[in-house]
Amino acid sequence: MIPTLLPTYARAPMSFVKGEGSWLIEADGRRFLDLGAGIAVNALGHANPLLVKALTDQAEKLWHTSNLYQIPQQQALAEKLVDLTFADTVFFTNSGTEACELAVKMARKYWYEKGHPEKTDIIAFTGSFHGRSSAGIAAAGSEKMTKGFGPLLPGFIHLPFGDHDALTAAMTDTVGAILIEPVQGEGGILPVPDQCLKGLRDLCDEKGILLIFDEVQCGVARTGKLFAHEWSGVSPDIMMVAKGIGGGFPIGAVLATEEAASGMTLGTHGSTYGGNPLGCAVGCAVIDHVSDPAFLAEVNRKSGRLRQKLEGLVAAHPDVFESVRGAGLMLGLKCKATNTDIVKAGYDNLILTVPAGDNVIRLLPALNITDADMDEAVTRLDATATAFTKS
Ligand code: PLP
Repeated sequence: MIPTLLPTYARAPMSFVKGEGSWLIEADGRRFLDLGAGIAVNALGHANPLLVKALTDQAEKLWHTSNLYQIPQQQALAEKLVDLTFADTVFFTNSGTEACELAVKMARKYWYEKGHPEKTDIIAFTGSFHGRSSAGIAAAGSEKMTKGFGPLLPGFIHLPFGDHDALTAAMTDTVGAILIEPVQGEGGILPVPDQCLKGLRDLCDEKGILLIFDEVQCGVARTGKLFAHEWSGVSPDIMMVAKGIGGGFPIGAVLATEEAASGMTLGTHGSTYGGNPLGCAVGCAVIDHVSDPAFLAEVNRKSGRLRQKLEGLVAAHPDVFESVRGAGLMLGLKCKATNTDIVKAGYDNLILTVPAGDNVIRLLPALNITDADMDEAVTRLDATATAFTKS
């Protein structure tokens, strides 16, 4: 008999009733150190008083009206994002995959309105992840996500990352955009070298096509800049954001330049809940907090500290771990043993990590994790690796 919950997830047996900062607590009081943060979502930890206040203050006043009317919280969040980024305009969604849907629609509509309806192709890269909607799975293209769900949304060209000849060959007149995660998350915590992002920007400029960054996982201060692409010095035409921007409340966004967004005129897109007062009130609190240069400096300091300790962990357990990779507090441990087994073994040591592709385990802590909690995390990972080696 089919379970009451559609069985699409392999859920671990834990069930949490409370969160406090970097800790998740079960009904029996067992406390897990959360180095996954809801897969890069709880950017300011669990039950952060600042976000609880932003949400409850708004909840007491107004939850939902509809985009039929002005939504001041939405306007405020859009203004903050426009002030802080390359973007001139913002559309709010409820999730990352919805941001992908709009990014794809925006790119195609741009070319349609420019009198080039043939420029529908979008180049994407193997190992990428852009969500589970029809555009998201077609964009990422992996068989694991697309098998059985055809016919797929057409118009995506998948290239192996770093293959410049393949990229040049794929640049035909039907290509309208390139879509890339500046740091691949699900694919295994793989930062795209700055030179490559610059090269893609140059190529897009030369061909006059759009560059789309998916910063759903790597954005919102995760890498120590407000958005990961800022490290490279280049910016996209369109950017997808979600996860961290809501700190745990579901909200996403598409940011774009005026030019890239020029096809999205009245009536061309919409969302019932997108940009609702609750999500935007929380989003404003998150962005105000994480965009502070002092906060970003702390993310970078913590990253250096954690990374150094993880290097020590890898050196101490060469049979279990191979290397450390990533950027900011988006770190990966490339494993020698099977990553999913190590994640499970971590549960016995009350530590939560997240598996990713390429046999990596992801460490995506709350961005305000304390030094003491980081040290405790490494101690628990060390105990996990020791137990793992013995078993
Ligand atoms: N894009 C990236 C890079 C992601 O990591 C994810 C989710 O993991 C998505 C898109 C999809 O986001 P959501 O699960 O909110 O639809």
